[in-house]
Amino acid sequence: MAERETRDIIVIGGGSAAFEAAIAAKTAGGERVVVLEKAPEPEFGGNARYSHTGFRFAHAGKDEIAEFVPGFDKATFERMHIPAYTRDDFLADLNRVTENRIDPLLAAAFVDNSNAAVHWMKDIGVEWEPEKTITVGDKLYMEPGINIHPIGGGLGMLLKLREIALKLGVEVRYDSRVRALHGNERRLEGVRVSGPDGEYDLFARSIICCSGGFQASPEMRARYLGSNTDFVRVRGSKHNTGEVLKMMIELGARTAGHWQGAHMTPIDSAAPPFETPAMEGGRGNSMNRYDYCWGITVNQLGQRFYDEGEAKHSYTYAKTGRAVLAQPGGAAYQLYDQNGVDLFRHGRDYPATVFEAPTIAELAKKIGVEPAVLVHTVEEFNAACRKDVAMDARKLDGKCTVGLAQKKSNWAEPLVRGPFRAYPVTTGVTFTFGGLAVDTQAQVLNTSFQPIRGLYASGDVVGLFFHNYPSCTGQTRNAVFSYLAGRNAAAFRN
Ligand SMILES: Cc1cc2nc3c(=O)[nH]c(=O)nc-3n(C[C@H](O)[C@H](O)[C@H](O)COP(=O)(O)OP(=O)(O)OC[C@H]3O[C@@H](n4cnc5c(N)ncnc54)[C@H](O)[C@@H]3O)c2cc1C
Repeated sequence: MAERETRDIIVIGGGSAAFEAAIAAKTAGGERVVVLEKAPEPEFGGNARYSHTGFRFAHAGKDEIAEFVPGFDKATFERMHIPAYTRDDFLADLNRVTENRIDPLLAAAFVDNSNAAVHWMKDIGVEWEPEKTITVGDKLYMEPGINIHPIGGGLGMLLKLREIALKLGVEVRYDSRVRALHGNERRLEGVRVSGPDGEYDLFARSIICCSGGFQASPEMRARYLGSNTDFVRVRGSKHNTGEVLKMMIELGARTAGHWQGAHMTPIDSAAPPFETPAMEGGRGNSMNRYDYCWGITVNQLGQRFYDEGEAKHSYTYAKTGRAVLAQPGGAAYQLYDQNGVDLFRHGRDYPATVFEAPTIAELAKKIGVEPAVLVHTVEEFNAACRKDVAMDARKLDGKCTVGLAQKKSNWAEPLVRGPFRAYPVTTGVTFTFGGLAVDTQAQVLNTSFQPIRGLYASGDVVGLFFHNYPSCTGQTRNAVFSYLAGRNAAAFRN
């Protein structure tokens, strides 16, 4: 292999953001586009491989969603409740969950381009199906704004994106780790690659950085995310170790987003240290434990510690992992009666680590929690649930607890119908919120707030979110900023 090569556009990373950027660059006239993926081919694709990849985007409602799912069973689609999700809805969700810390210009650019970006994915050949639902009466309900995901989930989408990219003539190099950068805080010119046949330098007029977050580095987690985060399980790719982000910062790139923040969720306590397996056919990740709205969650002392009914799970799950981490042993148990189990989005027999018993006291013994304490917690919770409000899983029903220090704000139904179940959970980190600062054209900025010429970024490597995250926003963000990055990289001239 030559020790020095030249291409037109280099894309660093091999996940969904990278392939979308490469396709956008190629279709905008970029000639020689090369994707450098650190992972070997069987592991390519970053985080999406472990996900069903729901997409949240602004849309006009059921008629527009129908355009994405032409082959889907018409009778089932008819039963689905799909209201419009407006630009203002999306922006309000982003502002609320980030506690108004998200950059307003980037948030507006993101939301305003979200509809066009997901249509662009459809137009280049990505195929879709409706999101998971819960059944109430004869209607099927979804989380607000999240109505479709690609057929085959994350892996299906990655394989399709790669197929499209290869057909367009994009070159993909696996096992190719970027280990150094050539340039400075004004201009990035090339990278040094550690490939299977040795090291070499690769230069290009534009470079798009899509190298993901730093969540798979215990050392960086401990340094930035804080106490005990080095122990948490990594839900996605083990290859997201943050080294390109570090190099970019050393080069002079400005940082943005919440550096002590990360998307952390409750996952099965039996989850592996990294790469929690996706279920077949894109039905989601087998380790997700997101039905906590329909029950209560207790720590190992048998005490509740957060508001399980604060909002729909899509607005709370990404911060709930952090709440679990703060408990003794970083562990918790999600408790349900059969009424709660009936509402599971994945169905009653979702594969999981689970304990079941006819009474709460017997369940407590099985999970190693002091029975008297757990019985007291459940009885106290049951007694505090408002009786004058009807439970309604379709919306924030206001059926809250009254008089408890730890309130449950909605869906506070007494746990009465045995057998009772306990799902042990721990914390899984999905991606980190701190990253590179970009402008609304996906150009990376330097610490003088100027663009680093020739350098663009998209995906988890971009610093965008704070505190929390509205579910299924990452993939749409990838599509929006990768499209911009690819087109701008193709147009850039020295
Ligand atoms: C279990 C799970 C479920 C999820 N569910 C959803 C969902 O339903 N909807 C949604 O919107 N988001 C979801 N997400 C988040 C979403 O998957 C990510 O936000 C998204 O995949 C990030 O894409 P990316 O391309 O930026 O990064 P990644 O997909 O992480 O890709 C980064 C790439 O960079 C490569 N890389 C790293 N270092 C180097 C280097 N030195 N040189 C070369 N390459 C390098 C990696 O190998 C990898 O290919 C989920 C994530 C997980 C883990």
